[in-house]
Amino acid sequence: MPTPSPQIVEVAIPLPLEGSFHYLLPERLQDQATPGKRVLVPFGRRKLTGYLLGVASAAADGIGELKEVLEVLDEEPLFTAPELEFYRWIASYYLHPLGEVIKMALPAGINLVSRYRCEKGEDGTPIMREYLSGGKNVRTERFYRVLPGSAERPRGKGGEILDFLAEQGESPAGALRERFGACSPQLNRLVELGAAACDEREVYRDPFRAASFGHDQPLPLNPGQREAYDRIAAALAGGSFSPFLLHGVTGSGKTEVYLQSIAAALSAGKTALVLVPEIALTPQLVGRFKRRFEVGIAVLHSGLSDGERFDEWRRIRRGEACIVIGARSALFAPLERLGIVVVDEEHEGSYKQSEGVRYNARDLSLVRGKLAQAVVVLGSATPLITSYHAAMNGRLGYLHLPSRVRELPMPETVMLDARGQKGLTFLPPLVDAIRENLEQKGQTLLFLNRRGFATYLVCHDCGQVLRCPNCEVTLTYHRGKGRHVCHYCDYSLAAPTLCPTCGGGEITLLGRGTERVEEEVQELFPEARVSRMDRDTTKGRGGHARVLKALEDGSVDILIGTQMIAKGHDFPGVTLVGVVSADASLNLPDFRSSERTFQLVTQVMGRAGRGDRPGRVMVQTLAPEHYALTCAVAHDFEGFYREEIAFREEVGYPPFAHLVAMTISSISNPQAEKAAEEAARQLRGLKTEMRMRVEVLGPVTAPLGKVRGRFRWQILLKGRERSELHRLLARFRAGYTHPSTVRVVIDVDPVEML
Ligand code: ADP
Ligand code: ZN
Repeated sequence: MPTPSPQIVEVAIPLPLEGSFHYLLPERLQDQATPGKRVLVPFGRRKLTGYLLGVASAAADGIGELKEVLEVLDEEPLFTAPELEFYRWIASYYLHPLGEVIKMALPAGINLVSRYRCEKGEDGTPIMREYLSGGKNVRTERFYRVLPGSAERPRGKGGEILDFLAEQGESPAGALRERFGACSPQLNRLVELGAAACDEREVYRDPFRAASFGHDQPLPLNPGQREAYDRIAAALAGGSFSPFLLHGVTGSGKTEVYLQSIAAALSAGKTALVLVPEIALTPQLVGRFKRRFEVGIAVLHSGLSDGERFDEWRRIRRGEACIVIGARSALFAPLERLGIVVVDEEHEGSYKQSEGVRYNARDLSLVRGKLAQAVVVLGSATPLITSYHAAMNGRLGYLHLPSRVRELPMPETVMLDARGQKGLTFLPPLVDAIRENLEQKGQTLLFLNRRGFATYLVCHDCGQVLRCPNCEVTLTYHRGKGRHVCHYCDYSLAAPTLCPTCGGGEITLLGRGTERVEEEVQELFPEARVSRMDRDTTKGRGGHARVLKALEDGSVDILIGTQMIAKGHDFPGVTLVGVVSADASLNLPDFRSSERTFQLVTQVMGRAGRGDRPGRVMVQTLAPEHYALTCAVAHDFEGFYREEIAFREEVGYPPFAHLVAMTISSISNPQAEKAAEEAARQLRGLKTEMRMRVEVLGPVTAPLGKVRGRFRWQILLKGRERSELHRLLARFRAGYTHPSTVRVVIDVDPVEML
C-alpha cells in the first residue's frame, strides 16, 4: 500500500522575489488550510507571512527538501479564487511578484492586528503564533435597550435616559453620551435595576455614515443621456463584458447616467464599483450617491485610517455594501457579483500608481470587468487619446453627450497673448474681467500650475539658479515658511541673502507661483476676499473640503489654485476663470505634454458658468498658436485628437506602440550608467536573437536625473506587440544581474516619463 502522499501547497510571499514557493502542509493544518488564507512559513532563517494559493500542481519530487507550513493565520479566506486570478494577471502583466500584488490589494488594516506570541507546539518545541481575528482593530460599542417589566424607575437623568431608550428602541452608548453628557453611573444603575439591558457589538468606523444626506429621485434623462443609458442597460442585461467610453463635456450629466446605470445593475442583483480621482472624492460626490441609493455604500480614500479602511473592506466582503466609491486602490474592493465598473475622469494620471506595483487602475478596470463579465464605463470630458482611438476603432462602445444639460451654454472663451509682456502677472483684459466680475458679485477662479511664491532664485552676477542638492531640480520659494523647498524630496533651505555659489548680493526671485499670485491679487483688489488652493493650503484631513466649502458658501470671491481646482467640482457661483499660465505643462519633456495641457485647460475652463449665469474664460499664454491651446479654447476635442493622433503615429507612440520604461539608479553615477549600458546591450542582443521589432532606446539620463540622492538612467522599450515586450523582458530578467546597490524599476505602460 502506498503511503498517503503529503500535501504540497503553493504560497506567495510578499518580497521582491520571482515566483511562488512550495511547502509541505502538515496533517494537523489540513482542515484549516483553505486557499486565500495567510500562513506562517519558514523562509531562510526567518518566519514570514505568506498567502496560501492552493495545492501545488507540481509533481512531488524533492519533497524531502520542502519545509512545513507552521501555522494557518486566518479563520476566513481573505481572497476568493476569481480574485486570485485577477492578482495573477496583474503580477504577470506588470512583472511584479505575486505576493507583493496580493499584499497591496488587501487592506493594510489586516496587518495591524497581527501580534505574535510564543507557544509550545505539539512536540514541545516553541513556535511563534500570530493572532489576528477579533484583534484590537475591530471596534465594539455597548448598545442599551429597555427591558419590559415593572422595574423600579429612577428619577432625574436616569429616568430621562429610560424614556429616551423606550422611544428609540435602543441606543449605542456613544449617542447617549452625546445627548445626556457623562452618564455611565446612570446606565450602570439602570442595568442593575433590571430596567435596561446592554450588549456589546462590533461596529464600523465611518466618517460619512453619521451625516444625513436626504433622498432624491432619478432625473428624467435628456435624449443624449437616454441613449447612453439604454445602451449600458442593454449591455447589463446581456451579462457579458462590455466596455464603453462615455465622452461628455463637463456638466453634460455623466454622473446622472452613472447613477441610473448603477441602479439598473443593482436591480439585477449585481454590485457596482465607482472609481474617481482622489481629489474628486468629495462629500459632494458621495452625497449624490447616498441620496440616490438606500443600499450600503462603502467609501475608500486615502484620508481613512487603516482601521476605517479595514472596516469598509469587511463591510464589502460581507456583502453589506453593494456600491463602492473610491480612488485608485478601490479597484481591489472585494465586491462579488460585480455588474458595473465606472471610471470617472478616466484620463487622470492619478489612476497610475507610481510606486511599488506600478499598476493603472483605469486599465485594470477593463481587466476586472472582463473577468467578471461586467459593464465598464470610462467617463471623461477629455478622454485619453488612446481611449478615443479605441472607441473610433470599435474596441470601446462610444457614448457621446455633446452638450450641457438644461441648454447651459459653454463659457465664452478668449486667448490672451502674453508674448512681449514680460513682467505682467495679469494682462489688462484679465484685470478688467476680474474687476467686472467682482462688481457683479461673481466668483473667480485663477489657475496656474506652480505652487509656492516664485519658481526660482537667480543670481545676477553668476546666473546660477538655486537647485536641490539631491534632485537637481530648481527650488521653489515658499514665502509663508521663508524657505526654498524642493517639490520632489522636501529638502528646504532658509532664504539666502547672498548667492550660495559666488557670494553676489543681487539675487532675485523669478517666475510666479500660486502664493505670489495670491499676494498680487490681494494688492490689486484689496476689497476682495481671496483664497488659495494647492498642496500647501490643503494639508491635513479635511483641508481640501475646507477650501471648497468656503467657495461653495460664497465667502470667497477669488480662488487661486493649481490643478486641484480644475477637477470635477461643480460651483454654480463661478462666472470667470482665468488661466494665468498653462505653459509649464506644455514644456515638460514628455510625449503626453500636449494631451495633458489640453485636458487641464479644458477642465479648468469647465469650472466656469455651471450655474444660472453664463461663464467667461481667459487663457494667458506664451504659446497662443499651439494646437493644445487653440483647440481647448475652441472646445474642439475632435480637432485636437486629429492633430495629436497624427503626431503619435508619426513618432510611434501609444496607441501605435506599447511602452515599457526601465529606470536604473544608484547613488554612484558611473555605477548607474554602467548598469544601464549593460542592460541596454543585453536587451538589444535578445531582441535580435528573438527576431523582434522592439525598439530599445537609451540609456539616457532621466529627465529628473537625480532624485533623493540617486542618479537615474532610463531605457525605453517600444513595441507594436505587447506580447513581444513581455517575452523579451521575461528573458532579460532571467539573465540580467546587477550590484545590490543598483535599483532597477520596470514600469509597464508608464504615465509619467520623468
Ligand atoms: P457631469 O458629471 O457630466 O459633469 P452632472 O451629472 O454633474 O454632469 O450634471 C450637471 C448638473 O446637471 C447637475 O447639477 C445635475 O444634477 C444636473 N442634471 C444632470 N442630468 C440632468 C437632467 N437630465 N435634467 C436636469 N438636470 C440634470
Ligand atoms: Zn530634492
